[in-house]
Amino acid sequence: MRDRASAETNATNAGATRLPAGLPPLILFTFYGLLCLLPVALAALQGHPARNIFRELSSGLVMVGYVMTLLQFVLSGRFEWISGRIGIDRTMRFHQVTSWAILSFILVHPLLYAVPRLFPDPMDAVNALHRMFSSPNLRSGVIAWYLMILLVLLAVFRDRLPVRYEYWRLSHGLFAVAIAVSGTAHTLAVGTYSADRWLAGFWIVATIVAVLAMLHIYVLKPLSQRNEPYRVVSNSKVADRMWEVAVEPVRGPGMGFAAGQFAWLNLGHSTFSLTEHPFSISSAPVERPRIAFTIKESGDFTNRIGAIEIGTPAYLDGPHGNFILSGREATGAVFIAGGVGFAPIMSILRQLKAERYPHPLRLIYGNRVATQILYLEEIEALKQALDLKVYYVLSEPPSGWTGSVGELSPGLLNDCLDSIGADDWLYFVCGPAPMINSVERTLMDRGVQRSRIVSERFKYD
Ligand SMILES: Cc1cc2nc3c(=O)[nH]c(=O)nc-3n(C[C@H](O)[C@H](O)[C@H](O)COP(=O)(O)OP(=O)(O)OC[C@H]3O[C@@H](n4cnc5c(N)ncnc54)[C@H](O)[C@@H]3O)c2cc1C
Repeated sequence: MRDRASAETNATNAGATRLPAGLPPLILFTFYGLLCLLPVALAALQGHPARNIFRELSSGLVMVGYVMTLLQFVLSGRFEWISGRIGIDRTMRFHQVTSWAILSFILVHPLLYAVPRLFPDPMDAVNALHRMFSSPNLRSGVIAWYLMILLVLLAVFRDRLPVRYEYWRLSHGLFAVAIAVSGTAHTLAVGTYSADRWLAGFWIVATIVAVLAMLHIYVLKPLSQRNEPYRVVSNSKVADRMWEVAVEPVRGPGMGFAAGQFAWLNLGHSTFSLTEHPFSISSAPVERPRIAFTIKESGDFTNRIGAIEIGTPAYLDGPHGNFILSGREATGAVFIAGGVGFAPIMSILRQLKAERYPHPLRLIYGNRVATQILYLEEIEALKQALDLKVYYVLSEPPSGWTGSVGELSPGLLNDCLDSIGADDWLYFVCGPAPMINSVERTLMDRGVQRSRIVSERFKYD
């Protein structure tokens, strides 16, 4: 392991810290909205005589829904220009929320066609739907319609499915490609407005972009990762059921990153394998080329993390995320961590120590038991180098414990925050999603502006 003290002297080492690039959220949202409306505008410009309101509504909704479907590929493509500023967790949440809108637009598409037949004879509408779903001309559309329902249901109930995450992810990708191909075939074959060459061209280009986004993540990235191999240089237990795995590049300087970011880590598999997991980097940029991850045993892959041997080949996809203090204006910062959610905060604190950060820092760090506290000695030593105060919280404390007792509940948090008295500082919150939701609500109830809260959820898909 590289000596941390010598690394500190390199704190200003050019290229050690790499801030995320990314388009501003306003530009992204505007671009997204315009793209969704573009096919409707192209259809309106064709000057077709208006059909009945239900048909027009059906066509309009399905066009918007279908562009959104194709844009889902780009949203989940781990592109830094999209998620660099807004964060990949928010990008993925947007992906999930919009999938409900997509599903409803696509579900009602055939149903709206049948609405005018409902009166006076509802059976006429049922028969019309039956004819539609059994028509050979509409087969590709019917396939896309059913696949869309299946895709969303499998995503919603993923946690309850008896399949490994990697297989679910593979099926999600394959279903999505099948929807894109059959959906585009349907719209080009029977879409009233898509007979126009401009609109047809739009669908073809959008489908190609969607498939290229997929190729980017499953083919191009793995190919480029093969040129940037890493290997495991240390693996040690750092707390109860928690391990620190460090990697170094086989050649070259390795990945640049900003303190607080995360990467997808692939240990011992081909770069084309789907077995890779997102972990925050817990070492500081100044410690490069060494890059460390602090990993909690919590499932199939992580339960075996302690057995990873020195020398195991590794690949990184990153850096991702915007859980970053560097570059943000702050007169002080409060870090609130639950369990292994302390990992990216450790990276930030290590970097701030190297940079001799002058502003006040407060850490509220919750765990169940004392043996789960990560890097206790190092945190205590950091208090000498930084203006750092730490509030340890345990829900099951040992006898003689002098820190706070309980969960990171609103009451307990408010007690700590009252004594900190810094509602205009920056707040960094990291840990499991339910904890983050509760902490964010508590902070906003105290009047902390949303823009002053930076969070990293350890689960977003
Ligand atoms: C941004 C981010 C940063 C994280 N940082 C850390 C960290 O520093 N330390 C730590 O211990 N844990 C961290 N996690 C959580 C960690 O990724 C999961 O605990 C780990 O992937 C579980 O894998 P498993 O096979 O052991 O468990 P499983 O039971 O197989 O998976 C549990 C859950 O982990 C998620 N998951 C698994 N594989 C992937 C994948 N390839 N991509 C996305 N999600 C996946 C899924 O939600 C899955 O349901 C982080 C998660 C995210 C999203």
